[in-house]
Amino acid sequence: MRTTYAVGVDVGGTRIAAGLVERKGRMVKEAKVLTPKNGPFAVVDAVIDLINEVMATTHPSEIAGIGIGLPAQIDFLKQSIEFCTNLPLAGVDVRSLIMSRIRQDVTIDNDGHCAGIGEARFGAAKGVRDCVMITLGTGVGGALLLDGEPYRGSRGLGGEIGHMVVRLDGPPCPCGGFGHIESYLGRPAIAARGREAARAYSGQDIRDRANGDAEAVTAEHVVQAALAGDEIARGILIEAGGILGEALVGIVNLLNPRLIVVGGGIGESADMLVARAAEVIAEKALAGRRDVKVVQAQLGNDAGMLGAAGLAFDEHDSREGLHR
Ligand SMILES: [Zn+2]
Repeated sequence: MRTTYAVGVDVGGTRIAAGLVERKGRMVKEAKVLTPKNGPFAVVDAVIDLINEVMATTHPSEIAGIGIGLPAQIDFLKQSIEFCTNLPLAGVDVRSLIMSRIRQDVTIDNDGHCAGIGEARFGAAKGVRDCVMITLGTGVGGALLLDGEPYRGSRGLGGEIGHMVVRLDGPPCPCGGFGHIESYLGRPAIAARGREAARAYSGQDIRDRANGDAEAVTAEHVVQAALAGDEIARGILIEAGGILGEALVGIVNLLNPRLIVVGGGIGESADMLVARAAEVIAEKALAGRRDVKVVQAQLGNDAGMLGAAGLAFDEHDSREGLHR
């Protein structure tokens, strides 16, 4: 049966959001809560409460299922959480816990994959068959959408663009590696560059945005100063964009995508960073540089939630043998 709605849930380190979503991507109901900090079961309870809230006035038979994006590495076949840095969910059977209390099918996936599915179905990459999504937020995530489908690798652990090495002798990455894209483009890395600049006289514009306290500078302060035209802040983001571009040259050469979508809170606001990455690709990639466009994402904070709902529709339709 063709169902009308799916529930998409986006679980983040800071907040959890759930939405009741129509097939064409219109969100008809939404609920949010701050992510509980007192253990995995509090997180699961919060997710269940939000799902119940957005489903409350809809008949269960109209709902295709529930998709949940988690900031974790997920074995997609086993539907298990293998690795999770920001939340205590590794090894917790989130899917079964939720299905034991809500009579709907549940599918979990990596949050970057969900954001990519969201942009591919309803946003910047609509209608594009070969696309790479990269999300610049506190962490750096991503998704490969190849030949019209999310590519997850053999178990679902693929697409971790943020943990590609860009500098062999680079700084540490929160994952434990060194010189990864996230080491340069995650919020903490940009904030650290901002604090460094704000300690000097020339960093006054950035410092002012943190009420004169160089040590309180965040990545958002750097972006705001850059958007207002401060050259020092612009320099920080353009340099970061250059590093991102170097990494994307490799991706363009490897995959020949038509589109690279840069999302996440930083990616959607720092246009000069994205423009610099595009310049580096245009200068340095092999012939595939002529095919690729680099754009900013369109769905903002909703990308993960909408993509999770899209995933739930896809899983429902493949169970029922329906074609999209
Ligand atoms: Zn890493």
